[in-house]
Amino acid sequence: MKNIIRKRLSLAGLEAGTLAGNTAVLGQAITLVESQREEDQLLAQELITLLLPHTGHSLRIGITGVPGVGKSTFIEIFGKHLTAQNKKVAVLAIDPSSGKTKGSILGDKTRMEELAKDPRAFIRPSATGNTLGGVANRTREAILLCEAAGYEIIIVETVGVGQSETSVRSMVDYFLLLMLAGAGDELQGIKKGIMEMADGLVITKADGENERKATQAQADFQYALHLFSQPESGVAPTVMTCSALFKKGISEIWESIIAFKEKTTFNGFLQSQRDRQDLEWFESYFQQLWQQNFQANKNIQSAKKELVKKINQKELSPLQAAQILFTKKI
Ligand code: GDP
Repeated sequence: MKNIIRKRLSLAGLEAGTLAGNTAVLGQAITLVESQREEDQLLAQELITLLLPHTGHSLRIGITGVPGVGKSTFIEIFGKHLTAQNKKVAVLAIDPSSGKTKGSILGDKTRMEELAKDPRAFIRPSATGNTLGGVANRTREAILLCEAAGYEIIIVETVGVGQSETSVRSMVDYFLLLMLAGAGDELQGIKKGIMEMADGLVITKADGENERKATQAQADFQYALHLFSQPESGVAPTVMTCSALFKKGISEIWESIIAFKEKTTFNGFLQSQRDRQDLEWFESYFQQLWQQNFQANKNIQSAKKELVKKINQKELSPLQAAQILFTKKI
């Protein structure tokens, strides 16, 4: 039977379809959580609450790296490696440019064609939204929906520019940074902070003439990581090389991720990180709601205009004005 949903489903239909792993229903459920309409948002939250008992069982992996480093080629081969072991894999993307340009640089259909055809894989182009915080919250919800639909490995991909890595870091169990050999740190736009966030580093395109450079880069980065303090996870990050083109290094990367999962399950970090992420998510939502409320409130906005005048006329300091506005009843 073809997975075509012609009309909007009821809450019960969405719940049953998602739990049954129906990809068309899952797609519709994700569209619902991405919707800006208030009624959709209410329905989406009801759906998530219903599905919550069925979530949390996947391994959540974040993957980042500059455009051109080989993310989509890697995810395609890595994803196929996992589906070949009978695992269900979902790929979600956070694209910091999508809110501004509408067209998503990560979401074009030509990427990961093979994986997209795989019945054990589900690929969802990036969420759109006005703010990165909004997009990130939608992606967090999409992770829960994919888990309820039975996906065991969830890959969240982002471009290694801007703030999106921090967002992805805050929603995954394991964070993988893809890097090019010999491009220089600055050239790659990789900040020390991003390296510090990574649980694993992979030097991509380790093939042909590039192989020797990749091995050298592996040693250099492994040395550089020794200079960082011991990560909270208690597991020192590994630097690996791979060639997605020649399917080399893929199983080693998966084994290293599995070893990380086992160690952090044993030392309790995996669960404590997830608990902390839930709290961050709650705070991010609260701030968003608070801000929306603030911006939509006409009284506050007109009081703000008056206060700005007073600041400009040196009648009030910016701090005093902010305090007055803060204590104003919403
Ligand atoms: P993304 O922008 O990070 O998603 O990068 P892509 O996966 O689109 O890859 C960028 C370019 O690098 C493409 O032309 C790929 O064919 C090439 N590429 C990706 N992986 C490899 C690899 O393992 N070896 C080689 N030689 N080229 C690769």
